Parts: sequence; structure tokens; C-alpha cells
Amino acid sequence: MNITVKEQMYEGKAKQVFATSDPEIVMVHYKDDATAGDGEKKGTIHDKGIVNNRLSNALMQKLEEAGIPTHFVEEINDRDTFVKKVEIVPLEVIVRNVAAGHFTLRMGVPEGTEFKTPILEFSYKNDDLHDPFINHYYALALELATQEEIDTITKYAFAVNEELKKIMADVNIKLIDFKLEFGRLADGTIILADEISPDTCRFWDATTGEHLDKDLFRRGLGGEEAAYQEVMKRLLG
Ligand code: UDP
Repeated sequence: MNITVKEQMYEGKAKQVFATSDPEIVMVHYKDDATAGDGEKKGTIHDKGIVNNRLSNALMQKLEEAGIPTHFVEEINDRDTFVKKVEIVPLEVIVRNVAAGHFTLRMGVPEGTEFKTPILEFSYKNDDLHDPFINHYYALALELATQEEIDTITKYAFAVNEELKKIMADVNIKLIDFKLEFGRLADGTIILADEISPDTCRFWDATTGEHLDKDLFRRGLGGEEAAYQEVMKRLLG
């Protein structure tokens, strides 16, 4: 692809975004930096950027094949990818199959409890406010998204859950929960953006229950580098 990379537009906690010569495409660079606990805990996970870039791209391509539109355009190298430029909808879209993390604290349900049906929840993506839990009425009232966009996001989020559960089950990993972000193309079309990785999903080994995700780092349990590599090995060989 004949695209040149230009100035950095944005730097987040785990990624940098660069403009390119094509106004409809940006380049994402994945870093090894990791944060947890609302940014209070900072560190690095060796080669996390490589794992997350490669895994997210592979998963997004599988989701595209299943009919879910994503931002993926082209993997350039181990850490850099061209993606479609979007305006991010300021919602963290969380899907849960099994109780873990904040849900267990908020609801008093033990970690590992399987839900009868998947749960969809929204947070307002705002670091200053610590991403508060909201419902779709908040999103409509504050014009974070339209009803039509929320309907589309809801449909895609459950579709991602069904596909991702199958993809992970094939490599003996149970999909506990995950966070998605969606974006709007210039014409308003909603597509899946951001990343799908052990940073944004809880993955448990289906046999041993071993954690293969960022909870190892969040909880200071150790072994996160090996866990990220293990997920990549199982999915990409
Ligand atoms: N998650 C995320 N970014 C966030 C918050 C949550 O990627 O800022 C992911 C997290 O990895 C998990 C799911 O969303 O897979 C649900 O997270 P939860 O609400 O339980 O919050 P946590 O306990 O992870 O802070």
C-alpha cells in the first residue's frame, strides 16, 4: 500500500496514533506500556505491543469474515497497523459471560459464576471521571450516541461475543468478559475499532482456569509476559 506515515496525532496509555498521507487511514503503534487500577499502577509487559497488535489484527479479520465491520486495513509490521480513521464513540462497551472484576464487587457475585445470558454494559469513556458506569438513556441524553448507533453497537457487541467465544474455545480458552470500542467513519457508519487483546479481554484456560490476561499484571500475580505469549501461540501458532 502506497501510504506514508506522518505526524503523531495522539498518544494513549498503550498505543500511539499517527496521521498518514491518506486522510481516511491512520497508523496505530502498539507499545509495551501497561496501566491498571485507573492508571495508578504503571509498568511494562515485555513484547505486549507485538502480541496485542498481531492478535487484535487476526481477531478483527475473523470478525470481518463473520460480517462485523472493523477498522482493520493492513498489518505493516509486528507493532504497526494501518486502520480506518474513525471518531471514537465515547462508550466502553463491555460484554460479560462469567462474573469477574468490577462485576463481582458491584454485585456481590463470586468470581467464576456463569451467567444464564450474556450481559452488556456501557461506561462513559472519560478518564477524568474514571469511566463511570452508565445506561443507554445517559448516552442518548448526553448525545454520546444516537438510538440507531446504540442499536447497531448492541447488535455487533453480541455478535462479537458469539464469534470470539467460538474462536477462543477452539484453543481451549474460555472468554470471561471483554471491552469493545466503536467508531464512526466520515459518513457515520459504525465499525469496531480500538483493539481485542489480553489487555481488553479476560481469558481463562478452559481446563485449569489459569488466567491468561492482564489480570496477572493488575493483581501483581506475575507471569503476564508468558501468558500473553501463550495466547498468541495458541491462536497464531
Ligand atoms: N476493560 C478494559 N478497559 C477498561 C476497563 C475494562 O479493557 O478500562 C476490560 C477488562 O479487561 C475486562 C472487561 O473489560 O475484560 C470488564 O472489566 P471490568 O468492568 O470488570 O473492570 P476491571 O475489573 O477490569 O477494571
